[in-house]
Order: sequence, then C-alpha cells, then structure tokens
Amino acid sequence: AKANGGNQTAVYDVSYSTELEHRFEIERELRAAIDSGDLRLYLQAQMSTTGSLLGAEALIRWQHPERGLISPAEFIGIAEQTDLIADIGDWVISQALIELSKLPEPLTLAINISPRHFRKYGFVEQVERHLAHSGADASRLILEVTENLFVDNTADIKDKMQALQKRGVAFSIDDFGTGYSSLAYLRKLPLQELKIDKAFVQSIDDPSQRAIIDSIIAIATNLGFRTVAEGVETKAQADYLAGKDKAMVLQGYLFAKPQPTAEFHQRFVNNLN
Ligand code: C2E
Ligand code: CA
Ligand code: CA
Ligand code: CA
Repeated sequence: AKANGGNQTAVYDVSYSTELEHRFEIERELRAAIDSGDLRLYLQAQMSTTGSLLGAEALIRWQHPERGLISPAEFIGIAEQTDLIADIGDWVISQALIELSKLPEPLTLAINISPRHFRKYGFVEQVERHLAHSGADASRLILEVTENLFVDNTADIKDKMQALQKRGVAFSIDDFGTGYSSLAYLRKLPLQELKIDKAFVQSIDDPSQRAIIDSIIAIATNLGFRTVAEGVETKAQADYLAGKDKAMVLQGYLFAKPQPTAEFHQRFVNNLN
C-alpha cells in the first residue's frame, strides 16, 4: 500500500497496520511450522545439454494445514527480515543433506542460502555439523548465494567461503546480474558456478536480453565457472543455450517442475543405471 496524497493518509495507515499484522502472523505461523514439520523440500532436476541428470536444486515449500501449499515467494522475504531465516535455513540444510546422502554419486544438490543466514556467526560450523550428522558428501553440495552477499564486509564472507571450499563445498551465484554488486568479487572469491536467472532465459527472443545471456556465459567461461540456466521452458531456449555452451546445466519446466522428493526419486533416480 502506498500513500500518494494528503487525504489518503488514513487509507495508508489502515493498510500499513494490516500489512504489519499480516507479516507478524506469517512470522508466528512459520516459526510453528518449523517445529510441527509443515515445511517441505522439493527437488527440481538439473540436466546436462545431452539430457542426463546431473543433480537437483532444493526449493522450500510450506504445507499449511488450512491454506495448502505456500510458495517461498510468499514467506522467504518476510523470514529474511528477522533471524527466522536462519532457523529456516538450518532446517533446509539439515533436510537437504539427508536428501543428498540418498542421491547416488555423482549427483549434486544445490541449496539456497540467504545472505542474512550466511553472515550469521557459526554458519560454517552449522554446515559442518549437518554434514557430519548426515554423512553426505560435501563435494556434491552446492550453496547458491546472491550477489547481495558481497555488498559489504567481504573479508568475513571470504573466510567463510574458503573454509567451506576446503571441505569441498561449491558456490554458485544465483540470479547473476540482477543484484547491486560490482563484478570485482568474481575473481576474489572461491566460486564455481554462475546461475542465469529465468527472467533472462524467458526473454531469450529479445536481442538485448540475449546479449546479456551471451555476456554471462562469456564471463563464466573466461573465469572457468560452470553456467546453469534456470527457467528453461522451451526446446528453443534449451537449444540456444546448449549451442552457446555445451557444458551448461539446464533447469526448468521443460524437464521437470520442483517435485516432492519421493516423486523425484521415482521419476529420475530409480531409473539411473
Ligand atoms: P530461485 O532460487 O531463483 O529459484 C528459481 C525459481 O524458479 C523457483 O521458484 C523455481 O520453482 C522456479 N522455476 C524453475 N524452473 C522454472 C520454469 O521453467 N518456469 C518458471 N516459471 N519457473 C521456474 P520457487 O520454488 O517458487 O522459489 C522462489 C524463490 O524462493 C527462489 O528463487 C529462492 O530465491 C527462494 N527460495 C526457495 N527455496 C529456498 C530456500 O530453501 N531457502 C532460501 N533462502 N530461499 C529459497
Ligand atoms: Ca536458486
Ligand atoms: Ca534467488
Ligand atoms: Ca532466479
């Protein structure tokens, strides 16, 4: 809700307090959902350009007892405003590593880590604890972070990334090119992957958007990083991307939607030879 005139102040106040109440309500319910087991991890397949399964990205869902399945777009932003995101992140890491321990080699699992959670004291130890507990292979774990992580206090961020890299964990820049960071961090930090946001992939017919995709691929290739394209919905998009980089990883509805872990195993894993 936005105030755009003096005599709309009352309207603004009402919707503002409603929004705030809505946020607190979600926060409260979300906190309870962690304990009552109402969060779910869905898996979305990541494919090679030749059509073989390389791994998956874990994407959170909230199975609300009354409102049904809630998308992360509706609650991650709210959770990120407080340390609640760290509690959700802790749950995500623990569940994801259990899932990773069930995925046959050499399949990888990517998880999304919010900047606020990554910056929190003890993050590295938390990942190490879950790795030890699950027995999952650290070298098949990919942490997706956004450029916003690198906007300030990069010394601490770099130390943490290096500590995890020593354990074999890989880092991917999610939504690359959509944030506010400079590109200087790219050669200073231990990175392995750039992820092309679906907004670019889905406007691939627009020459200027295609120029951005081509540039991301060029940066990645020159720095020795792998590229992943998300939001691949059509054969034409997949063909364009594969033509640019045959080592690219493809992810999108063309191959599979994010799905419950049991369905993912049934569809993809049980058929692997
Ligand atoms: P993201 O990390 O950029 O994830 C990609 C989003 O694109 C996912 O939405 C995925 O379901 C969707 N997607 C994948 N392929 C296609 C496609 O072909 N077409 C279309 N239209 N969409 C596609 P989702 O699952 O709703 O997640 C939204 C965002 O929520 C994620 O964006 C990520 O930023 C955040 N998120 C999801 N799970 C987690 C989590 O466990 N932790 C944190 N911190 N954030 C998460
Ligand atoms: Ca992601
Ligand atoms: Ca994202
Ligand atoms: Ca994205």
